[in-house]
Amino acid sequence: MTMSYVFDPPAPPSVAMAGGGGRFPVRRIFCVGRNYAAHAREMGKDPDREPPFFFTKPADAVVDSGAIVPYPPETSDFQYEIEFVVAIGREGFDVGREAALDLVFGYGVGIDLTRRDLQLEARDKGRPWDWGKAFDQSAPIAPLHRVNGGRHPAAGRIWLALNGVVKQDADLTELIWPVPDIISILSRSMVLKPGDLVMTGTPAGVGTIVAGDKVTGGIDGLGEIGIAVGKPIARRSQRVVRNGPESE
Ligand code: MN
Repeated sequence: MTMSYVFDPPAPPSVAMAGGGGRFPVRRIFCVGRNYAAHAREMGKDPDREPPFFFTKPADAVVDSGAIVPYPPETSDFQYEIEFVVAIGREGFDVGREAALDLVFGYGVGIDLTRRDLQLEARDKGRPWDWGKAFDQSAPIAPLHRVNGGRHPAAGRIWLALNGVVKQDADLTELIWPVPDIISILSRSMVLKPGDLVMTGTPAGVGTIVAGDKVTGGIDGLGEIGIAVGKPIARRSQRVVRNGPESE
């Protein structure tokens, strides 16, 4: 049977693999909120060991390292959050903590780009976080590293620098909920499938970025990521002026 679509479906969003050899097709992006105590405090919340909470980004929010990410619309407080990223490679539902790492395909470094003003307004009004978190190009992710010899990183420096000045500097041991717990808990609510990504939360030191800024970061053993912040996307009205017949 040949499937027919009313228009050509877009290519699946994907993330590069370290060392090449194909790309990781992205299915969904789950993000953990407040998973480092010092960051919970800087967001005005008490760190606690209540179950982790999640939000999502659309799969096509992924961006390769090296990209210029345009300054997003509707915000005046665009922020970076460096994150440890887990790539799921096997299906699992209601998986126990001890078996959770069997689902992992690999790991990487990502940035949870955030429209902080929209997120906090939504948080304070009890509204969804989507407009603060799930916008276009909000998930830069560096090339993923396959699980190698059954070794799963549980410790190592995680850092981010803005224009060369280190702003976030922590260790994966500081995760309130480590990866086996996150996967186990997430899998009670969703059937996890190959292609799912989990961004595991950011340490303290988040801050604002503007057009022209360069953001770099890394995790020990998982390489580095770098993006630049570009000018805002031109509005349609501006495009008409710039690309209209009178300007050609
Ligand atoms: Mn985050």
